[in-house]
Amino acid sequence: MTASSAPARSNILVLPGDGIGPEAMAEVDKIIAWTNAQGLTAIETEVDLVGGAAYDAHKAAISDAAMDKALTADAVLFGAVGGPQWDGVPYDARPEAGLLRLRKDLALFANLRPAICYPALASASSLKPELVEGLDILIVRELTGGVYFGEPKEVVTLENGEQRGVDTQVYTTNEIERIAAVAFELARTRSNQVCSMEKNNVMRSGVLWKQVVTATHAKAYSDVELSHMLADAGGMQLVRAPKQFDVIVTDNLFGDMLSDVAAMLTGSLGMLPSASLGAEDPETGKRKAMYEPVHGSAPDIAGQGKANPIAMVASFAMMLRYSLGLGDLATQVEAAIANVFDQGIRTGDIAGSDITPVSTSQMGDALLAELQRVIEAG
Ligand code: NAD
Repeated sequence: MTASSAPARSNILVLPGDGIGPEAMAEVDKIIAWTNAQGLTAIETEVDLVGGAAYDAHKAAISDAAMDKALTADAVLFGAVGGPQWDGVPYDARPEAGLLRLRKDLALFANLRPAICYPALASASSLKPELVEGLDILIVRELTGGVYFGEPKEVVTLENGEQRGVDTQVYTTNEIERIAAVAFELARTRSNQVCSMEKNNVMRSGVLWKQVVTATHAKAYSDVELSHMLADAGGMQLVRAPKQFDVIVTDNLFGDMLSDVAAMLTGSLGMLPSASLGAEDPETGKRKAMYEPVHGSAPDIAGQGKANPIAMVASFAMMLRYSLGLGDLATQVEAAIANVFDQGIRTGDIAGSDITPVSTSQMGDALLAELQRVIEAG
């Protein structure tokens, strides 16, 4: 990517949110200002409120006006929401409701969570360094179906006075096909391997999942290497030998758990980005998308300059790659993150006992300086 190749103009809705959300987002703002000035990006940002901040202003976790902006933006960049000061607000207006409305109204059915272990941080993992050093896997989780949404979903009182809680695991062919297609397409940009995880030995929906993934593969993606694994065995393999995986595709429930397991292989919550993608618009080829760190608003460290901004910056890198078609620049941002670690620069969450931690903005400045060096070095 050079300044002369004039990147397409993009319109990004920035929702910093609460707690450390705005602090982490400020470091992304610095990077955008610089890449725009260099002509590497042409990002126009609009900023709005979400979460507790939106509740304080509008008595809703996201306003209709902000939702309208999200629907027309090329992508949404989201910080974090929540905090104890909003514990008593009505359920429908709780901070997390803003996040759920965004996911629902943008129909973001594919959740992408990379788990990357930078060599300099391998010793911070709960696994042996040699098992995780250089780890680079991507978990693709179905986000809008399955047992979290299936009906009936209820607690009923039985004739004998006992209660029965029911959740229903439901998947249709189309829901499985579209998430499988996302996984296969992403695998083509990586090491070209997909492992699909379900429980076809005990769940009918698992039988269908495996059939549909297999058929989707045969129809359009036979160049990608496909394997299947029972989700429980997959969890075991993730902590036994995680580097065997490239892309893992799985349902909403298993994906929730497996992505948290994979996350912890890499160290801190402050390091983990995510992307949520919707269906491709057949006319423009674009997808609705939201990019956000996995962590929450961290009220315990908010306002103290202690937040690690890397999850937010890495989420921005995912946006460059998946929504703005700037994969080279995304790779350069990720290289800058790795280089900063190699230099021993760490925020408190990953500093350990022998490194003096830097502040959020010092980390942001170091990342930007390193990005400049990476780009100049070509
Ligand atoms: P959390 O992720 O906010 O914090 C968990 C722990 O990790 C805390 O000790 C925190 O200091 C630390 N941590 C998190 N991100 C960090 C970072 N970038 N740098 C350094 N340390 C970091 O989870 P929680 O404490 O369970 O929840 C706090 C609030 O956030 C709650 O209101 C919760 O509902 C909300 N939450 C929001 C989201 C979201 O916005 N997507 C996700 C999870 C939790």
